Amino acid sequence: MLLGVHCSISGGIINAFDEAQKLGINTFQIFTKNQRQWREKEIDDEEGQQIQARQKEQKVKIIFSHSSYLINSAARDKALHEKSLKALTGELQRCDQAGLAFTVLHPGAAKDQDPEKAMEQVAKSLNQVLQNTSDSEVKIALENTAGQGTTLGRSFEELKTIADQVDNDRIVFCFDTCHAFSAGYDIRSKSGIQETLDQWDEVIGLDRLAAFHLNDSKGELGSHIDRHEHIGHGEIGDAPFEYIMQHFPDIPKVIETPKKDDWDEKNLERLRSFIN
Ligand SMILES: [Zn+2]
Ligand SMILES: [Zn+2]
Repeated sequence: MLLGVHCSISGGIINAFDEAQKLGINTFQIFTKNQRQWREKEIDDEEGQQIQARQKEQKVKIIFSHSSYLINSAARDKALHEKSLKALTGELQRCDQAGLAFTVLHPGAAKDQDPEKAMEQVAKSLNQVLQNTSDSEVKIALENTAGQGTTLGRSFEELKTIADQVDNDRIVFCFDTCHAFSAGYDIRSKSGIQETLDQWDEVIGLDRLAAFHLNDSKGELGSHIDRHEHIGHGEIGDAPFEYIMQHFPDIPKVIETPKKDDWDEKNLERLRSFIN
């Protein structure tokens, strides 16, 4: 069973392993740098080897990153486009150095562009970044979004439209339960999550699903609000989490809920209870 949380890298990436150990998890997500700043960071060979050795020693199966929120692969503004390409290329390079499998990426925001045009631009950016890092096997997992504002990726069809224009097996996907619900997919019941994932399978394919983000939602169905709530405490409820835990043991599932107090422990315990 691959289950974990988003771990903090405060004080260094290596510290994420202490948190993972404490929580008893075998997979986790990290930011590889401060995600709210453009400033790039490199992971040198020594740090990379240290991380990879620790992963092996601690028997952590899969580690992946979440790319910076500043990146907008749809941007046509030259400066933002270039910064975004550089940041995503840097992200993949850091993942490569640290032995991470993939980075989760929000597709981007159309702003004042027509969505179709914006998705073309995303694909163009992704093609460029994959080419910049063609010696790497690190993948990009496009994440479905809540669809707040002009963000792309609110529907499975949009993710597919982007991926079709990239046509590279280094493009995979991440399914976020909060985002799907908030974007309008009613996953509150067992049949609801089943139908939604069937739809995903038809449009994108479950074989390209690299990760789940397991988050309940503060926002209502179709609200397009991206605010995560503790498992079973939001508008979604337990049903889809139980379903995913029971049907997808081998896909990494991480929680991205507020870390205050011992909520990570509580959320993990609740999720684990669904398979006992
Ligand atoms: Zn997410
Ligand atoms: Zn979110």
